[in-house]
This record gives sequence, structure tokens and C-alpha cells, in this order.
Amino acid sequence: MRATCWVAPNKVSVDDVPDPQIINPRDAIVRITSSAICGSDLHLLQGYLPAMRKGDVLGHEFMGEVVELGHGVRDGLGVGDRVVVAFPIACGNCVACANGLYSICENSNPNAAVAELAMGHSPAGVFGYSHLLGGYAGGQAQYVRVPYADVGALKVEDDLPDEKVLFLSDVLPTGYMAAEMCDIERGDVIAIWGAGPVGQLAAASAFLLGAERVIVIDRFPYRLAMAREKTGAETINYEETDVLDALRDMTAGRGPDACIDAVGVEGHHASAALHAYDKAKQALKMETDRPHALREAVLSCRNGGTISVIGAYGGFIDKFPMGSFTNRSLTMRSGQTHVQRYMRPLLERIRKGEIDPSFIITHTMRLDDTPHGYDIFKNKQEDCVKVVLKP
Ligand code: NAD
Ligand code: ZN
Ligand code: ZN
Repeated sequence: MRATCWVAPNKVSVDDVPDPQIINPRDAIVRITSSAICGSDLHLLQGYLPAMRKGDVLGHEFMGEVVELGHGVRDGLGVGDRVVVAFPIACGNCVACANGLYSICENSNPNAAVAELAMGHSPAGVFGYSHLLGGYAGGQAQYVRVPYADVGALKVEDDLPDEKVLFLSDVLPTGYMAAEMCDIERGDVIAIWGAGPVGQLAAASAFLLGAERVIVIDRFPYRLAMAREKTGAETINYEETDVLDALRDMTAGRGPDACIDAVGVEGHHASAALHAYDKAKQALKMETDRPHALREAVLSCRNGGTISVIGAYGGFIDKFPMGSFTNRSLTMRSGQTHVQRYMRPLLERIRKGEIDPSFIITHTMRLDDTPHGYDIFKNKQEDCVKVVLKP
């Protein structure tokens, strides 16, 4: 089959690789009809997360048709079913899964010992997301093996097009969980750093959950325009305005009730000097991540407010404003998304017309064009927000 393979930092290629096969009884093989490139893939592309090997198949947002099933798959999945697959791989049986915390499943990362060295304890395995998280082949490909298919694959009827349901695999639940972690109450103002697919869907979700105002921060005018036009958010361009000042002005001096970091490891700073500081420290391995958005989110948040960190961080950060955090009674919540918990209720919301995540799609291309997709998504060219691949 054809699949998108990681080759080296900043190089991917679409190659012929062996077809996946059933290995365990609860596996399914899915023929992929739509796949997407995620902001998290960019961290792998650029080599910010360790443990990628040449030839690893990328991709963790995908859907398709079940073409083969192991004999142990429970819960009525059948060959021919149309499914969307959650990006965390989760067994459904362990304590974490029983509590709905699927992205920290205790059984799905065969390389847990390596993850423990890096993080203390291991999170779940993830499709196409490095050997630290299991070394599973991903879904920017024609076919994929889905372990624990009865937990991770959600059956969807044919009446909804791929474009409306594909993002149940990741960015819609991710934006939703980011908003949910803010414990939104009537009248709340939510600020969101990052106007990528995650920030856009966090904005839409925050309104869905009752926010009165949502303020989205980025530097790309076309992304800020999308946030205004498609979600109803107000926007700040951090290259034109001081974010802290602007947020104070917009909230009568108090600051937003909750702040969402939808940027993560590759934060950029309007000040060339500050950006260079973190880039240099990162290059020297003195910190692994550039937490510009996180620092600003902490400093901006109102006293007693919540920081919801949905952007992906890989390792260690520097100059975290701990004094501000503790003295002002802030709360921080985070996590890789527990996608399986949100898929069914969000499918229902899509069906009822309460949310349609397809507005983020700006590009649709053939699988063989994936390297170009990575290129324009990474460099924010051609007004790219989200690339959908058609294997
Ligand atoms: P993206 O690259 O399209 O968007 C990131 C945006 O952040 C860009 O528009 C960029 O201009 C903006 N940005 C950079 N520095 C900024 C700053 N200082 N202030 C404000 N904006 C800034 O990526 P995406 O697909 O939207 O993903 C966003 C983040 O969410 C990534 O870190 C990704 O790994 C993470 N993610 C996490 C989960 C999860 O389960 N927690 C799931 C999916 C994605
Ligand atoms: Zn993702
Ligand atoms: Zn589990």
C-alpha cells in the first residue's frame, strides 16, 4: 500500500510499504477514505518529539471502511462498516479507560518503559506518533491496523459526509475538551492562543458550552478572519498588539475567566529577541519546548481562573511564571484528548446541526501530495488551515 513515511526532520515521503495485518484478536484493518494532517504531526515532522525512525507511517486522524476483523472484536463491529477512529489507542478495560481517561490507557503502549524514563509514567499509545507512544503505524495511508477496534472505532451512518465526521478522530473532541476544561459559566470570557484547527474548534466549542465572549489570538490574519467569521470570536493579532494589555482592556481590567493554550511546543514570539532566546535554548537542549503562549496565558488569566493546556508539549520548559500561578490561585488542566469519551456525544451534536467542524478544511488532496500538504500547513501558506487527504 501507499503510506506517508517520516524520513528525517522536515522530510516526509509517500512510499510503498507492506499492507497491515491482523496481529491481535481485537484488531481491525480499515481501508482509509479520508485522513488529515494535525498540528501534532508538525511537531514530529520538525523533530521536536524524539523517537521517530525512518519509515514510520504518520497520521492519527482518519476514517474509512472496516475490511477485516480479528475474532475477538466485541460490540457489533462488522466488515463493511464505516468508522471514524480515535487517535489514542485504548483497551477499554483498565482503570484509566474505566474512568473515561482513554489517552492514559495503561495497556496500549508497548514501549511504556521508554515513556516512563521521559515522563515518569506512560500515557497511552497513539497512531503514527513515535516509538515513545507505541510505534504504531498511522493513517496517512491506504490501510491501517486499528488495535482495540471495539473501543476506538465509532460506526457512522452513510448520510453524513466524511468531511463532517472525520474530525471526531481528534481535533473536534480536542477543541471541545479544551473548552470543557475551562468549566465555563454564563457570562464567561475565554481567551484562546492559536487559531489553528484546534483553536478554531475550541472557540466554537466554548460558545457551545455557554461562553459569552471568546477571544482568539494568533498572528496570521487569514486564520484570525476564520475565527471571527466562522465561530463569532473576537481576535487579537499579537504582532500588532500587546496581548496582556489588550486582554485587560477587553475585560475591564480583570482578565479572561479561562485561557486555552492551543499552541504547544512550537510557540512563536512577536519579540524576535524572546523568540531567539527559546529557540537557542531548545537547540542547545536546555529546554525542549517554546512555551510563549503558555507564559502569556498564565499572566493574562484573571485571579482564580483556569489555564486549559491542550497544545502539545513534549518535555521541559523554561521560565514558567510560577509566582503568578500560585499567588493568584490559578488552576491548570491538561491532557491528550480522551477522544473515545467525546465521539458519540459530538456525533450527536453534528447530527443535530449544533456544530459542523468541516469549516476548518481549506485543502483536499491526494495521498501522493501529502508532502506538499505538510509544507503549506507548516509554513501557513496558501491560507492553509486544515489539509484532508484522500488515499
Ligand atoms: P497549528 O500549527 O495549525 O496551529 C498553531 C497556531 O498557533 C498557529 O496558527 C500559530 O500561528 C499559532 N501560534 C504560535 N505561537 C503563538 C503565540 N505565541 N500566540 C498565539 N498563537 C501562536 O496546529 P493545530 O492543529 O491547531 O494544533 C495546535 C496544538 O494542539 C498543537 O500543539 C498540537 O500538537 C496540539 N494538539 C493537541 C491535542 C491533544 O490531544 N491535546 C490534539 C491535537 C492537537
Ligand atoms: Zn492530532
Ligand atoms: Zn485501557
